[in-house]
Amino acid sequence: MSVEIVRTVAGIRARVAAWRAEGARVAVIPTMGALHDGHLSLVREGLARADRAIVTLFVNPRQFNSAADLAAYPRTEEDDARKLAVFGDGLVLFAPDGDEMYPPGFATGVTVSGVSEGLCGAGRPGHFDGVATVVSKLLLIAGADVALFGEKDFQQLQVVRRMATDLNLPTEIVGCPTVREEDGLALSSRNVRLSAEDRLRSAALPRALLAAARRLEAGAPLAETLAEAEDAILAAGFARVEYLELRAEAGLAPLAVPDRPARLLAAAWMGEVRLIDNVPVAPARAQAGLAAG
Ligand code: AMP
Repeated sequence: MSVEIVRTVAGIRARVAAWRAEGARVAVIPTMGALHDGHLSLVREGLARADRAIVTLFVNPRQFNSAADLAAYPRTEEDDARKLAVFGDGLVLFAPDGDEMYPPGFATGVTVSGVSEGLCGAGRPGHFDGVATVVSKLLLIAGADVALFGEKDFQQLQVVRRMATDLNLPTEIVGCPTVREEDGLALSSRNVRLSAEDRLRSAALPRALLAAARRLEAGAPLAETLAEAEDAILAAGFARVEYLELRAEAGLAPLAVPDRPARLLAAAWMGEVRLIDNVPVAPARAQAGLAAG
């Protein structure tokens, strides 16, 4: 048993029109496939908020800034379709090919400034233009009431929120918590590229982020706390820390102290595999006290 796969924009539009005629609410969950429990948590949340759901599967070439990364990205459509079958016939998989999404002559791009700058935007030029372009297309194609995104890609979630607000897209954007392995590593389609040994070492990334978050909440100084976290990540076997930064949750402004709800965000390279993660940081107790007083 497998889920129904729709390959064309016209096909998905017809399906949504039929659902709407029945009075159904519709959710959309954009993905690049190689589905894992993180993706499936978004599907469950979507079906809790709507009657029908569209999972999109499109490995979007425009958001890859390295041809090697695009070529190495896992493609497991048959498995993905099987994993979605458990949700029954209230769900379809929209899996267009490249020409369906970007026909010859395609010439439009969506750029979001501000929240797309720095962090992943610094190391992956053009990445968020590709994300904003494909997500705005997918939201307009699906015409859904609600779209689900993971906090795992925290900056992406902020870019999508900004884009949906600025373009008056009628779809509500909902962020969902990061699903993790037992040792804390965030589920990611890229984890399958880690060797068994590197997979075990990779749990040092969320461990270091969580330890640093607790210290910052207790009032520890930022530079020293981030330096210690970076040392711990490198000592565990990561080749490089691309960034490790404290940012405000709303708007992603860089922070020197967590005086408002914040996130500690990192990207680090385990061999050839780039992993990203982030954890919430509550306002430091002293700061919260000052603000309250
Ligand atoms: P991707 O297929 O990696 O582009 O991800 C598709 C969606 O799933 C995005 O909204 C991601 O943020 C979300 N996602 C990926 N990994 C996780 C995870 N471990 N927990 C929750 N959501 C996730």
